[in-house]
Amino acid sequence: MTSTAPLALLIAVAAAITAATGVLTFRRRRDTPAAVPLTLALAAVTVWALAVVLLNAGVPRPWLDLLVVPQFLGVGVTVLALRLFVDAASGRAARRGRTLALCVEPALLLVAVLVDPWTHWFHATVEHVGDPERRVVSAGPLFWVHTAYSYAVVLGAASTVWQLRRGTRDLLRRQATTMLAAIAVPFAANLAVVFLGDVVEVDVTPLAFAATGVLFAYAVLQQDLLRLVPVARSLVVETVADAVFVLDARERLVDVNPAGRRLLRRGGDVVGEPFARSADPALVRAVGDGEAEVVVRLPGGTDVDVRTRRLRDERGRHLGRVVVARDVTDQLRAARDLERANAQLRAQLVTIEALRTELAEEAARDPLTGLRNRRRFVDDLRTRLAASAATGEPLSLVLLDVDHFKAVNDTHGHAVGDEVLVEVARALAAHARPEDVVRYGGEEFVVLLPRVDARAARARAEELRVACAAVRVEVEELRVTVSAGVATAPDHGGTPDELLLAADRALYEAKEGGRDQVALAD
Ligand code: GH3
Ligand code: MG
Ligand code: MG
Repeated sequence: MTSTAPLALLIAVAAAITAATGVLTFRRRRDTPAAVPLTLALAAVTVWALAVVLLNAGVPRPWLDLLVVPQFLGVGVTVLALRLFVDAASGRAARRGRTLALCVEPALLLVAVLVDPWTHWFHATVEHVGDPERRVVSAGPLFWVHTAYSYAVVLGAASTVWQLRRGTRDLLRRQATTMLAAIAVPFAANLAVVFLGDVVEVDVTPLAFAATGVLFAYAVLQQDLLRLVPVARSLVVETVADAVFVLDARERLVDVNPAGRRLLRRGGDVVGEPFARSADPALVRAVGDGEAEVVVRLPGGTDVDVRTRRLRDERGRHLGRVVVARDVTDQLRAARDLERANAQLRAQLVTIEALRTELAEEAARDPLTGLRNRRRFVDDLRTRLAASAATGEPLSLVLLDVDHFKAVNDTHGHAVGDEVLVEVARALAAHARPEDVVRYGGEEFVVLLPRVDARAARARAEELRVACAAVRVEVEELRVTVSAGVATAPDHGGTPDELLLAADRALYEAKEGGRDQVALAD
């Protein structure tokens, strides 16, 4: 047993700890991109530590000499992975170029160590001392290059964490502190190994990394380090589409995100300037001097929804205000378009309703004479008969048919026939209320005579017959006559069918009687 044996044992324990922590962080790889580089770092430290353990465990040559390869491979990858871990933990996106650049040094290091037995550039001298044998080396130029590079990378990573720590509070700040400690401990140990080589005979850096492992295990388990990426909070404000302004108690702009800068009137450095000077007057008015929620239109036609909240410290003292402005131009336009479309639809509905009424009206009308047609007449008659029956008043009906109308068509043509029908219709309408005159069929008409009894109806029918006989059309010698049948409710029937049948029979009699005359139903 040599004096290095207890230390080697400790380092073996350290390797077990870093390996275990690595397993732990690997399991969290889905929670955060920082988990993978951290796992890599812990794996590399484990390899490094195991190499150191074996270097002190009496391994015979040439295996002993070969152990420097895993030792420095572990060193190189540890440095690389530490930098990647800090990048990921500080919210920096992984970039392939950067990762590849970081891989260059470990690769060169590996080559330098492999060819060292011939070059002696890395370890200037190698002695084998003691029993069991150990390697005692002295640094060559490449060792110093490698050491300087590694320190630069580690210090750079520490500086990133330091900046991160300054910008955060509470839990996030504690995490950054943990990370700094986790980097500082092995760094100090390595300084001791490199510069106090005479005193510190064994490479205890992996041992210090065990402390790192414990700190990270603590961070992972207790502080949820890998779940909360420290800068997430400030990144959120930086990347949201909403403009965010923070005003101090004196209404000066103390913070503004990129979206906020785009909304301001002036470019350049606006932080520290009065908000009223940097922002558009419309926006300044919207922000007011208290808390507000308003929508304003800015010059250029942008509509923004502005929400202003007071910021207070734990004791309730006014610190300033935070203003969040969201571009709602598209949203408002969509709402207006919808409203316009709705109004248009309502107008169309009114038009359609009017057209529908017109159509229904037209369907109930005869296009040639403009009189009502038979379509709704029978229903209408039924209603009026019921009303008459209820009041006990009579309702008469005159059915008129143009005599020998076929001959008119045959002699003078259909167009003249039409003209005759139009004139007969006009003559009838002139002697009754227009809505009471119906074109019942081809050259047949019905005239309703409400509240008129059979006798009076017969007299009115006579008037109608005379009026029709007086009809003249363009063809001078053309004269027409009509025959008419008269029926009265309730005397000749109570339903449309009964009444129309009675009138038809009377009309038939009039025709039989020689036409150009009126007949009253039996
Ligand atoms: P009657 O004295 O017995 O009533 O003889 P009529 O010729 O009038 O009798 P009929 O009912 O046989 O003929 C009616 C004619 O009316 C037949 C048809 O050609 C004609 N007519 C029906 N509708 C129209 C129309 O809209 N325009 C024209 N020009 N003629 C029509
Ligand atoms: Mg007829
Ligand atoms: Mg006829």
